[in-house]
Amino acid sequence: MQQPAQPDIAALTALRRDLHRHPELGFEEHRTAGIVAERLRALGLEVETGIAGTGVVATLRGNGRSVGLRADMDALAMPETSGLPYASETPGKMHACGHDGHTTLLLGAAEVLAADPPAGTVHFIFQPAEEGRGGAKAMVEAGLFERFPCDMVFGLHNMPGLAPDQMAVVVGPQLASSDSWRLTFRGIGTHGAKPHLGRDPVTAAGQFLSALQTIPGRVVDPLQPSVISACSLRAGDPNALNVIPDFVEIGGTARAYTPEVRDQLEHEIGRLAHGIASAMGVTAEYDYIRRIPPVVNDAGATEIALRAAQSVSDNVITDFPPSTAGDDFAFFGQEAPGAYVWLGNGPAVDGALHHNTGYDFNDQALPTGIAFWAAVAREALT
Ligand SMILES: [Zn+2]
Ligand SMILES: [Zn+2]
Repeated sequence: MQQPAQPDIAALTALRRDLHRHPELGFEEHRTAGIVAERLRALGLEVETGIAGTGVVATLRGNGRSVGLRADMDALAMPETSGLPYASETPGKMHACGHDGHTTLLLGAAEVLAADPPAGTVHFIFQPAEEGRGGAKAMVEAGLFERFPCDMVFGLHNMPGLAPDQMAVVVGPQLASSDSWRLTFRGIGTHGAKPHLGRDPVTAAGQFLSALQTIPGRVVDPLQPSVISACSLRAGDPNALNVIPDFVEIGGTARAYTPEVRDQLEHEIGRLAHGIASAMGVTAEYDYIRRIPPVVNDAGATEIALRAAQSVSDNVITDFPPSTAGDDFAFFGQEAPGAYVWLGNGPAVDGALHHNTGYDFNDQALPTGIAFWAAVAREALT
């Protein structure tokens, strides 16, 4: 058996901290993408830039099957308070989700695999704009999978609370769908003293809100998790307390872990709104905005990811709870069988979790993460 090439962890740690120091928001990752492309070209890979703006894909070409490995590159619009020597130098921008680490891990894996190529083709996918700006969808729409066909695709995220040499690889749902909905109850505005002369949308909105939780509670299978929250409510004018307004606007979020429950939430929120509107003699305009599908790990891809994780870590768990957050890796998982795994980030330092102003990727996770990426490519292509 061939001894795998060893990544230069000291150099990669320096790179990771440089990326941390220079965070860039979604679709603005020009410096980061430039560094990524330059390093990948230096390895002799075929490199394509400018995919969906700042996306980069590098290909290590072989014969037979092909696999896609995804890293996200963007930071968040928030200040950093970590006090680290390599803290963000850009006010109001910060790598608070560890995507600086994800970018570095995949560059490290490209070094390892380029030095000792696997049997098939590896596409290293560096995605822009994971944090709510639609980078994955934009890459798919830019023809990612037509230009770089993948038999399987894998994603990875750092996870505080797990040790830096620990991984969680779990079949099935990992992250929830993340959708928005908007609703307008439209009635006939009238004098607050003469409700019988109009049609009151405020009372209809009250009925709707009090019935909304019957969808997760009474309609969706109790063994299937789901969340519906009304998060915005607008009606009338606080300076006009004798006026029943013409309309009420309500908006919120909906989360599910399967495409079926997601469809059900879309349908049922609308059904409830139209039903209550009809009962109250007003009308409802309803709009459900599909943002990110759930991330659901394919059984075959998960098996491959698990074998890869177990080959590089003695500390792999297969029971880890799904997150109600979302990741637009889900769009890649719709195009090819995929698996999304968790890499430990060590204990939460001072309680800092993802999207906290003190968060930092743990460089001690680099060796395990890089070894995993290389191993999963080899496993998938064998
Ligand atoms: Zn995030
Ligand atoms: Zn993230």
